[in-house]
Amino acid sequence: MIRTNRQLCNLSVRLTHRYVMGASDMDEWQDIGAYSFLSRRLIKEAAEYDELDTWAYTVRVDSKASPEQIEQALRSSLSGGGCTHAHDCCGCPTWHASDIKHIKRREWSVTVGGYRNL
Ligand SMILES: [Zn+2]
Repeated sequence: MIRTNRQLCNLSVRLTHRYVMGASDMDEWQDIGAYSFLSRRLIKEAAEYDELDTWAYTVRVDSKASPEQIEQALRSSLSGGGCTHAHDCCGCPTWHASDIKHIKRREWSVTVGGYRNL
């Protein structure tokens, strides 16, 4: 789910929260620009069997939106997962973005960790 190539991704603010995480595509989103991954650094290796490694990503943001909107959009765009299963045994990963910081100009830092639905 977390792509680290230079491909441009849509940067979107999630406007509604009517649907569960795995079905969040059905909520309303507003595109405010684009982002791409520049680099990543391993912050913490998974310590528990259901954890995922935690990475700090440097992303380039192309957007005319306010810093507050960009932060919110990065949080929405880099959090989530595809799991819609009711039972906790499918192993699907869920990601959460935190520590979103503006570094300089168009560069932002985002820490992304996660766990598996086990
Ligand atoms: Zn699942």
